[in-house]
Amino acid sequence: MVKPDGVERGLTGEILARLERKGMRLVAAELRLLDRDLAEHHYAEHVGRPYFEGLVDFITRSPVLVAVVEGPEDTWRVVRALMGATNPAEAAPGTIRGDLATKMAENLIHGSDSAESALREIGIFFPHLA
Ligand code: ATP
Ligand code: MG
Repeated sequence: MVKPDGVERGLTGEILARLERKGMRLVAAELRLLDRDLAEHHYAEHVGRPYFEGLVDFITRSPVLVAVVEGPEDTWRVVRALMGATNPAEAAPGTIRGDLATKMAENLIHGSDSAESALREIGIFFPHLA
């Protein structure tokens, strides 16, 4: 998912291009304005954390680009490596967050963190593909 900051800053092409250049193939993509229910469901593992309300405010403030990409093997792991660390201040140069972001709350991209979560999240956003 390219988060609201990425769409607002005009970085969707740059971010998708990095995934494509690495060898990922785009299977589905759509711009969507998430409602709070969907955002809370997507980020359910973070319910109760001090940053949760802010995270939901942020992810629902303007459209996101939800996408499914496919690769040869362990695609979620490859995408996570390209994303860089959650905190852009600590993300390595060469990664999406390391090169293009500075703030923890606005770190441009979400990626599934396991094969299981990829399946779950594809089911949320593209049920016909799960
Ligand atoms: P994402 O799930 O968005 O891909 P991530 O998997 O790298 O990011 P998570 O631990 O799942 O990181 O956290 C989800 C999001 O919540 C982060 O992208 C970040 O914006 C926010 N977040 C996580 N931890 C904190 C924190 N300690 N303080 C503020 N915001 C946080
Ligand atoms: Mg996460």
